[in-house]
Amino acid sequence: MKRICVFCGSSMGYQRIYREVAEEFAKQMAARKIDLIYGGASVGLMKVLADTLMAHGGHVTGIMPQHLIDKEVAHDGIHQMITVNSMAERKTQMLEMADAFVALPGGFGTLDEISEVLTLMQLRLSDKPLALLNIKGYFDYLLRFLDHGVSEGFIREEHRSSLIVSLEPKALLQKLNSFTPVEMDKWISDLKTESHAG
Ligand code: AMP
Repeated sequence: MKRICVFCGSSMGYQRIYREVAEEFAKQMAARKIDLIYGGASVGLMKVLADTLMAHGGHVTGIMPQHLIDKEVAHDGIHQMITVNSMAERKTQMLEMADAFVALPGGFGTLDEISEVLTLMQLRLSDKPLALLNIKGYFDYLLRFLDHGVSEGFIREEHRSSLIVSLEPKALLQKLNSFTPVEMDKWISDLKTESHAG
């Protein structure tokens, strides 16, 4: 694994632990010589991550739409900034460039990015792993919602369980390394069978 794309808050969160674990995660990436791809911002946990990684010798690429650069939230100290035309194009570019995805706590932007990767994994348009760094149980409500989706028959168990979750940076990186993607064919044939049985 050479390049990880990290999704995380453009805010800092109220508690110090979010920032501290983001720093620890960046240090662990740098120690393994894993490059960072991220949204390119100079705000919130995004900035913490990029700054810590660079302070420990890591390489950072930002991908940012022009309209956000115009609002002056671009990080001007990173190694490479790729400018794109839209938020959609940014996600496409992130998906192409990264070997794996990690989400740290964040808001709507982070949720959108998590959802995009999970949907593409489900359709097997991507077989790159996604892991949530569940700092202070931040994603517990989302995980409970996904479990509800499984028990109500809207999310398949194998797709739910392909999402890696870890409380701790080192364990998360180990789990990413041993990921195997879900087989697509069985899911499609099950969907057809269900619909015909309906
Ligand atoms: P949020 O989780 O809503 O704070 O949004 C952060 C995530 O969405 C990041 O992973 C970014 O890729 C994207 N994003 C949303 N807002 C911004 C912003 N102001 N600057 C840079 N990226 C942003």
